[in-house]
Amino acid sequence: MFDIQNILRENIKNLIPYSSARDEFSGKASVFLDANENSFGSPLGENFNRYPDPQQSKIKQRLSLIKGVPPRNIFLGNGSDEAIDILFRAFCRPGIDNVITVPPTYGMYQVSANINDVEVRQVNLNPAFQLNMEAIAEAIDDNTRIIFICSPNNPTGNSIDRDDIQTLLTNFNGLVVVDEAYINYSRQKTFIQELTEYSNLVVLQTLSKAWGLAGLRVGMAFASEEIIEVFNKVKPPYNINEASQQLVLKALENIEQVNNWIRQTVKEREGLTAELGLLDYVQKIYPSDANFLLVKMTNPVFVYQELVNKEIIVRDRSKVELCEGCLRITVGTPEENEILMNALHSLISKI
Ligand SMILES: *Cc1c(COP(=O)(O)O)cnc(C)c1O
Repeated sequence: MFDIQNILRENIKNLIPYSSARDEFSGKASVFLDANENSFGSPLGENFNRYPDPQQSKIKQRLSLIKGVPPRNIFLGNGSDEAIDILFRAFCRPGIDNVITVPPTYGMYQVSANINDVEVRQVNLNPAFQLNMEAIAEAIDDNTRIIFICSPNNPTGNSIDRDDIQTLLTNFNGLVVVDEAYINYSRQKTFIQELTEYSNLVVLQTLSKAWGLAGLRVGMAFASEEIIEVFNKVKPPYNINEASQQLVLKALENIEQVNNWIRQTVKEREGLTAELGLLDYVQKIYPSDANFLLVKMTNPVFVYQELVNKEIIVRDRSKVELCEGCLRITVGTPEENEILMNALHSLISKI
C-alpha cells in the first residue's frame, strides 16, 4: 500500500514553510504596508510593484474548469522542470534513495536526479519503445521512490501502454510520475481522471507546448491533495511571477485558437510522415502521438549539417541509445514544413 509518510523525507515532514506577507493576510484592504514593496508603483504601471499571488488562485480556478480537477489537486511550477526538481527534494534522500527512468526519454529526470545526488536506475524501453515490466520490477528495491514515465514519450513520440502504467500504479509503493507534456497531440486519454483511483499518481503537463507559452515558464502537476500540499510547502513562495500569471490568465481564454493549432499540427504531422516516407534515405518514421517525428535515416549527421547550412535546425538524436540514426523533427507551420521538405529533397542525390 502506498503511504506518503513512508517516502516523505524527515526534514520535509518537519519543515515549517516560509510564511509570506501575502500568506498571512489575503483579505480586502486599501493600504498595504506589510511586504516592503515600493508603495509608489512600478516603472511599468500594472501591479508589478506588488508580490504575486503565491497560490496562483485565479489560474488554478480557470485550469480546474478546463482540466476537470479541483484547484486543490493542482500545482503550478516555473516550468514542469520545477515540479520534477521538487519531487526529488521532497521524496528522495540524497545518496540513499533511487528513482527509475526508462530511456530513451526526457533528459531532465536524470539531470535533476544528478543535481540532487539521487541514484538513477535506467531500464531501457524495449525495441517497440514500450516498458520492460520485468526489468522494472527487478530494478525496484526498498529505496526506490519514483518511476518516471513520459507519455507520449520524448524523443520517441509514442504513447506508453496504459495497462502497463496502471500495473505500476497498482503495485509500486512509491510515486509514478506520468509526464504528459505532449498529451494534447495524442488520441490517448490523460491520466488526470485517474487521480481519484491512485494516490501515488503525479501527472505533469505544461503550457510550453500545445499552449504555445514556452517563454512564460509555467508547468502543472496534478496529484492528490496530500502530494500537492508537499509541493506547496517546498516551492519558493512566489514561484510564478506576476507577468506570467497575468499573461497565462489571458491565454487560457484562447482555448479555441489552441485547439485549432493542435488540429493543424496533427494534420501537418501526418502530411510530413507521408512525404518523409518518399525519401530514399529515410529508413523509418516512428509513429508519433506528439508534435514531432523521430526519423531514422542513412547518414543522419550529414543531413543534420546540411539542414543547419540552410538555417533549418532539427535535433540530432543519432547518438542516443535505441535512437541510432535518428533525427527528431518538430512539426512546424505548413510554410516551415515545406521549406524543410524542399531542403530534404535537395539531398536525395547526395546521400
Ligand atoms: C518540453 C517538455 C516538458 C516541458 O517542460 P517545461 O519546463 O514545462 O517547459 C516537460 N516534459 C517533457 C517530456 C518535455 O518534452
